[in-house]
Amino acid sequence: METKPTRRGSKQKMAVLDATKRLSNHPTAEDIFFKAKEEIVSISFSTVYRNLGILVKEKELIPISGPGSEIHYDHVINNHCHIQCRVCGKVRDMNVPAVDFSGILPSDASGFTVDGVCVTFTGTCRDCQVETDTKGEQK
Ligand SMILES: [Zn+2]
Ligand SMILES: [Zn+2]
Repeated sequence: METKPTRRGSKQKMAVLDATKRLSNHPTAEDIFFKAKEEIVSISFSTVYRNLGILVKEKELIPISGPGSEIHYDHVINNHCHIQCRVCGKVRDMNVPAVDFSGILPSDASGFTVDGVCVTFTGTCRDCQVETDTKGEQK
């Protein structure tokens, strides 16, 4: 039996990608870590984190950063907008037209060529609205 480090590396990467897809709710690195553990019990958080970085570079995953400190990851890499709950930090998709950046010229973008856009709205999710309601007046 031969062990190839590169293969093992790609196996872990696939487990990280798989975990993100199976969670399918814009998970954080920690969420992905616990899910990936179901597949590879010995996987470490730093391995998950490193592979998340690789997957982002390879454009397999999109990092979403909102007002919360934690980065969330999305395996749906088409151009769509997100909303993050200010209370619990969960991220969900928005069913609104994405920002069209195809016509933006470098002269309008400080000389940058534009190749992506990420819009994150903020709000309060349904679960947290209920909590705020019950904390307030009783019905
Ligand atoms: Zn919430
Ligand atoms: Zn999304």
